[in-house]
Amino acid sequence: MNAARTISNFGGNVRFQPTGYFEPGDETEVISILNQHRGQQIRVVGSLHAWSDLVVTDGIVLNVTHLNQVDLQPDGESTWVGAGCQIKTVLAALKKEGRTLPSLGLITEQTIAGATSTGTHGSGRHCLSQYIQAVRVVRFDPVTGDAMIELIEAGNDLRAAKCGLGSLGVIVSVKIQCRPCYGIEEHFREYRSLEPVLLAEEQFPLQQFFLAPWRWSYLAQHRREVPLKRSRLAGLYRIYWFLSIDLGLHLLILFALRIVRSNRFVRFLYRHVIARTVIQNWKVTDESSAMLIMEHELFRHLEIELFVTRDRLEPALNYVREVLTVAANPSAERSAPSQVSSSRDGLEALRGVYCHHYPICIRRVISDDTLISMSSGGSQDWYAISLISYARPTQRSGFQQVAAFLATTMSRQFGARPHWGKYCPLPAEDLVGLYPEFGEFRRTCEERDPQGRFRNSWITQLFQATSAARES
Ligand SMILES: Cc1cc2nc3c(=O)[nH]c(=O)nc-3n(C[C@H](O)[C@H](O)[C@H](O)COP(=O)(O)OP(=O)(O)OC[C@H]3O[C@@H](n4cnc5c(N)ncnc54)[C@H](O)[C@@H]3O)c2cc1C
Repeated sequence: MNAARTISNFGGNVRFQPTGYFEPGDETEVISILNQHRGQQIRVVGSLHAWSDLVVTDGIVLNVTHLNQVDLQPDGESTWVGAGCQIKTVLAALKKEGRTLPSLGLITEQTIAGATSTGTHGSGRHCLSQYIQAVRVVRFDPVTGDAMIELIEAGNDLRAAKCGLGSLGVIVSVKIQCRPCYGIEEHFREYRSLEPVLLAEEQFPLQQFFLAPWRWSYLAQHRREVPLKRSRLAGLYRIYWFLSIDLGLHLLILFALRIVRSNRFVRFLYRHVIARTVIQNWKVTDESSAMLIMEHELFRHLEIELFVTRDRLEPALNYVREVLTVAANPSAERSAPSQVSSSRDGLEALRGVYCHHYPICIRRVISDDTLISMSSGGSQDWYAISLISYARPTQRSGFQQVAAFLATTMSRQFGARPHWGKYCPLPAEDLVGLYPEFGEFRRTCEERDPQGRFRNSWITQLFQATSAARES
């Protein structure tokens, strides 16, 4: 235990000092730590890649990094994974058996429990939480008060535990679906409008695409599943991708932001340089675990991601574009764009505070059967719209103002749901109102944890907002 430890997250936007920090070696130790700290607040951390306040506590913190075993089931259709196992370790273990995970986000640094607890997703499939088949969680027995392990494997309890925001107890292992390794074929193409990009989904269901700010074109990363046969030039493609995108693009953006410090230069780069450096129509096939990810963790950043249903995607993207345009123009005299007019006053306050400098990534997530993952419920696909800032932590206020404005106004206009594990500046009452089953989520948590030992102040606010909504 290290009592004085200050904990900070990947983004550097969350810092706190718990009263105790523990890295239990096994499940028995998890139980004994809980028994020694009954009556205190308890939070679990994974790789600390979430940007939201989910991990913050003034109680004790458990990091279950040593619970990292991967136990493929005999039928090869699923695997038990220790909660603290990083996704990259899961993938490496499964690959030895010719298996992989059904979906991946952009990076693999997260732990399996951390990723699934916030609905982490990629493009063209469900979020990872959907593939969870069972969860083993340590919590207090409400009758005896002793810590115990519960197996959750069905019903609304499982739908809650699949994406549980760390609020059902300490997850010690999860059973997750897996599948045979497969190939991804991908190529890039630039489009002037959204419609052809969406039409291409039929051919390339796993695609993601980027709205290039200031050029306002769409760069589609067309992707589809193919039999696993590596292209001859796959190795070269990986080097090209690493040097030009993972390193080159990011260094260029940091240069523009931190050295040149000119919004005009940022706009020039997007209008005339960046899209032209992407090689279009180069079709390459490689294994999914190489193709679907990037080294996005190389440079510290802050991200907000807003989920809208397909029928709201186009107006939502137009709205984002209009807001970013106003935010970047200190004195522009534009007539009020129709989509923004209802929130015009708030928008005027943003004038000139921030110039967006990163491609806006858009990913399709198939609707999940969970209680509160961002892509839960409804009959339509969800689209995650991501906005990222590479400004230094002390210089993020412009981005944070724009993010808060977008989160608030887009939740009202488009029912947009912010990612639980990303920057989340939406008031509690607005957030819970976006999830028809939040009340059931709360009930499931309170049944297991009536004293609220596994909640922090953010979760408590969400639960209070649910009661307020029910009473009004
Ligand atoms: C560079 C970068 C890239 C990213 N890319 C994507 C992406 O492509 N797609 C996407 O959807 N998200 C992405 N994210 C967000 C990230 O996947 C989520 O924030 C995820 O929750 C982080 O997992 P973690 O292991 O770091 O968990 P943490 O951030 O440490 O914790 C997240 C939550 O999980 C809970 N938790 C962790 N372990 C346990 C446990 N054992 N028991 C109970 N609760 C637990 C914590 O209490 C907390 O509520 C990215 C983040 C970064 C920094």
